[in-house]
Amino acid sequence: MTGAPRSDDNLAPALAASAIEILARLIAFDTTSSASNLALIDYVEAYLAEHGVAARRIANADGSKANLLATIGPAEARGLVLSGHTDVVPVAGQPWSRDPFTLAEHEGRLYGRGTADMKSFIALALAAVPYLTPRAMTRPVHLAFSYDEEIGCLGAPDLIDALVAEGHRPVAAIIGEPTEMAIINSHKGIHLYEVVVTGREAHSSLVHEGVSANMIAIGILSVLGRIAESERADHRDARFDPPWSTLTVGTIHGGTAANILARECRFTFDLRTVPDRDVDAVLAPFWAAVEDARTRLKDEGEETGVAVQVIAEVPPLRREEEGAAERLAAMLSEVAAPAGAVSYGAEAGQFQTAGMSTVICGPGSIVQAHRPDEYIEVAQIEAGARFMSRLIAMTHAE
Ligand SMILES: [Zn+2]
Repeated sequence: MTGAPRSDDNLAPALAASAIEILARLIAFDTTSSASNLALIDYVEAYLAEHGVAARRIANADGSKANLLATIGPAEARGLVLSGHTDVVPVAGQPWSRDPFTLAEHEGRLYGRGTADMKSFIALALAAVPYLTPRAMTRPVHLAFSYDEEIGCLGAPDLIDALVAEGHRPVAAIIGEPTEMAIINSHKGIHLYEVVVTGREAHSSLVHEGVSANMIAIGILSVLGRIAESERADHRDARFDPPWSTLTVGTIHGGTAANILARECRFTFDLRTVPDRDVDAVLAPFWAAVEDARTRLKDEGEETGVAVQVIAEVPPLRREEEGAAERLAAMLSEVAAPAGAVSYGAEAGQFQTAGMSTVICGPGSIVQAHRPDEYIEVAQIEAGARFMSRLIAMTHAE
């Protein structure tokens, strides 16, 4: 980008008002990750079409969900990606004091599932669309809206591939997760695995007649416990909270009765790596334990074994030297604090891995995300609107 954007804060109030109207529509779609997001995509697609913007759907395998990609402005120039996920976390089991899918304003706050995480950023990006005049733009804006972020950033890879396959080489990607408009240049990597140990049933008194999947699993689980401790003790990165790579076993299901050698033990674990920590190095003892277990099971029959499946793999966002996205976001955001790091994972690492300079910067607070009575401060929408008004100016600058 050339030149500083002219200040155009006059536009911001209109943008904020329009964003809140759009947000009300977006919140009304229950896009919990387990459900389809297509009704929301229909709405966004129609809204863009109304403003003369063609969008492209990139559907999942069974067609029940879709990413949406749209480019506004001169496609041959290097532009800016504004990206957000359309899915939200479940409300089931949470004590909401209001309807999570009806936007409600109360004392300067807008309540609803997804207000903070992260439909407000999408609403702000959409509110900017009428002010993006393709013929007058010097840089394109790419809108990239994904599905299934909350269950392991599953939708973004195809979305990013489509963007790259269309020949775009964006100068920067801004992922609008809630940061209260602060700039985040690092996040941890996410690695989710499921392990299934299959043994052979027998009466519990006849341990030599079968093999307990639970007892095999305990060996592997204890290694995971040791990995968690050693990561905590070594390999620190002070920018993160907590400042180490975390590993936790989220679920364990094994066996059917106390007096039966368990046929199956199934568990999942979640590893969050600081950017400089190589996942293969962290998990080397785990893989050795899996190999060891397989060796022990070799003579126990063909049905026995240890299967390991990767559920999700999201690369970390690494701090860039002189990053274009960070420089750009600093011109658009009013938050003067130096760029920081977050421990939650996001799609930013995926965009960066595809070769785009990337930061996270969006309205709302992660503290209010995923909770009952999730909300965003109206002031955050207003800050986001000022960000977008500067972005509009920047993309039209000579
Ligand atoms: Zn999010």
